[in-house]
Amino acid sequence: MNSQGKTGALGKPFSSAHIQATLTNEKYLGNAMLQKTFVRDHLSKRRAFNQGELPKYYATETHPAIIDEETFEAAQEIVRQHAEERKNRARPTKSEFTSKILCPFCGEHYKRVTNNGTIGWNCRTYQDKGKRYCHGKKIPESILKALAADVLELQCYEPAEMKACIDHIEVPADNHLTFFLKDGRVIERTWADRSRSESWTPAMKEKAHKSALKRKESKSCQQM
Ligand SMILES: [Zn+2]
Repeated sequence: MNSQGKTGALGKPFSSAHIQATLTNEKYLGNAMLQKTFVRDHLSKRRAFNQGELPKYYATETHPAIIDEETFEAAQEIVRQHAEERKNRARPTKSEFTSKILCPFCGEHYKRVTNNGTIGWNCRTYQDKGKRYCHGKKIPESILKALAADVLELQCYEPAEMKACIDHIEVPADNHLTFFLKDGRVIERTWADRSRSESWTPAMKEKAHKSALKRKESKSCQQM
């Protein structure tokens, strides 16, 4: 409906909550659930949803129906099926670095990012809003794990140890990490960017070499 430009009664786009409320609204059946909301505070007259504080009454045939019972029930069955599917859907497991790395510039946490098959962590503000809003520099996850292992004096990185021993990590500057351990120790570590020569394959070097030559050629042409 949104892609067709259709809107709700107030002119706003449809949301999943909107559809859910429409599909399960017994009013279309000609019935009415009474006391769905109630006035919690008689001074402010604020209404609240009745979540079991007061009894609800289901009144039938309070007004003419616009949907027959069979269609309504079929819709309820689909809603139930979808809810069941959602419940059984596998959720990505939370990383031990989630909510642990702090951006010094905006105070937000770092968020996991995957691009071109490499996994890294970068400031959430930078990722969501762009570089105008925060300075961000991606930390490769492999570096993060290697430094955490080093700080914890482990031969191999252990997520459980990271969770148990490191309270949080701050990023005071590019390529610089400060580990705050739960035992009160504060340990600084720096890391180096992988040099191009290390990370580039011979094919990539060849391509770069060719395009550098091309640039040179076009420059000399312009000068003439
Ligand atoms: Zn930031």
